[in-house]
Amino acid sequence: MLLNCEICNGVGRRAAQTRSFVYAGQNLRCLQFVACCDVCGHCWRDEAYSNANLQHVEQACHVEVNRQQAANEFRSSIADATDAL
Ligand SMILES: [Zn+2]
Repeated sequence: MLLNCEICNGVGRRAAQTRSFVYAGQNLRCLQFVACCDVCGHCWRDEAYSNANLQHVEQACHVEVNRQQAANEFRSSIADATDAL
């Protein structure tokens, strides 16, 4: 797969960036692939990586949902335990 820079038409290669976004009231971060030009250094989001990037976002959201569910279950189990006292 060849990626061409829109500025200088040089050859781009895959690079990884960290993307921050807000989900369920939390700041989440995940990996995002971009293409970076070897010649001029221009980086851009390429459609070639859009599926992979979407998966990274979904994974980060999934982890956050699991984390919140675990926290809620922990809280309710503490509430149950203290009710029984
Ligand atoms: Zn370039």
